[in-house]
Amino acid sequence: MSLRFSCNSTSFPQQHQVRGNLKSSKNLDKVRNLVKTVGVPSLTSSPLESLRRGNWVKLICGASFEDVVDIRNLSLVYTLAGVDCIDCAADLAVVSAVNDGIESARDIVGLRRPWVMISVNDDEDLHFRKAEFDPEDCPLDCSRPCEIVCPASAISLNEGNSTLEVSDGTNASRVLKGGVITERCYGCGRCFPVCPYDNIRVVTYIRDTTATADLIKRNGIDAVEIHTSGRQSAFFEELWDGLGDSISHLRLIAVSLPNVGDSTISSMNTMYSIMEPNLPCFNLWQLDGRPMSGDIGRGATRESIAFAVRLAAVKDRPPGFLQLAGGTNAHTVDGLKKMGLFQTTSITKNSKDEILTASLPNSLHALIGGIAYGGYARKIVGRVLSSMQSQYGVALIEDYPEHLLEALREALALVGTVKSYDPF
Ligand code: SF4
Ligand code: SF4
Repeated sequence: MSLRFSCNSTSFPQQHQVRGNLKSSKNLDKVRNLVKTVGVPSLTSSPLESLRRGNWVKLICGASFEDVVDIRNLSLVYTLAGVDCIDCAADLAVVSAVNDGIESARDIVGLRRPWVMISVNDDEDLHFRKAEFDPEDCPLDCSRPCEIVCPASAISLNEGNSTLEVSDGTNASRVLKGGVITERCYGCGRCFPVCPYDNIRVVTYIRDTTATADLIKRNGIDAVEIHTSGRQSAFFEELWDGLGDSISHLRLIAVSLPNVGDSTISSMNTMYSIMEPNLPCFNLWQLDGRPMSGDIGRGATRESIAFAVRLAAVKDRPPGFLQLAGGTNAHTVDGLKKMGLFQTTSITKNSKDEILTASLPNSLHALIGGIAYGGYARKIVGRVLSSMQSQYGVALIEDYPEHLLEALREALALVGTVKSYDPF
């Protein structure tokens, strides 16, 4: 099933828009001290400079993740950790939540603002789908593996009374209630194969281009990312044309694509030729190694590194920064270093097919602009957010400084692998 989604006009809940006088809050001194101790980039260090130096970090909230409370708190924590960009769903409420998190972080410490990026798709795409099922169709004695495997806690089931009358019209029968929490589902697909009764459906959707163009023209969006398979240039062109003059408001245009083997470079060149006549800003290629898998384990990052090695060695690729995603986690920088690709400027192979690289003098751009972290970044901070929520309910993380400190340590440990922060 495929749907067309428009941008949601709901505004971020008012209680989350009200920020206290955080600059004067003594309780947050430990947070401020930690940010200063590790050397998070100051107001003068721009996201563009990070791309050039090869230490750009993007937080991926998820093209389909729409839990505005978590998104707001994640954005606050990762802004304090010094990310350069926060990528989120092309939805007004989500964009407002990201900007609220960013500004609340900047109220605590005067850091520069990360860019806000929205994600759209030109065709059906793994990142733009949701799981769906009717829990009343599930046997009561199902061991509920769907709930267990979901990395986003997006499935919640409880026993309750059926809404349908039983045949004798007297007692309601017991059934499962709840199901998929739509705004938390980001379409990772892990629940689909584990259901023993094949009850879970996939609902895919394509973001509406006109609504996206209107959203871009509002304040608070700096970049757009087009997810594409790269196989259907006509779909890409249709989306690009549909965005029209809204792109003149942007500082960066990213194209996220999977590794499609030998045709990857020709697809990239075709897409670049479509964009190039009216490309108003810098562009970036997001190399989506193994989509939505960074939280699974160490090995998940191998495909994104292999994709980067392959592209970096190709001479006739189109202009644009290269950035890893899809399977990225705490091991990605080590993997890049092993391949000689971290903050280097060129890659060649010698007669023995060994990789030779050149290190980064100040005047040259890094070959790999940086790394985007999604599932792994959300998992390490999400643990703290869940614990806070189970203790206090829906909350602004800065109201609980010990939780904020714990979440910030997690975020700094990840972002610091790219930005080489001082130990803390
Ligand atoms: S698709 Fe992924 S995020 Fe969505 S409910 Fe299934 S396991 Fe959870
Ligand atoms: S695994 Fe399938 S049958 Fe069991 S609770 Fe989940 S969706 Fe229902």
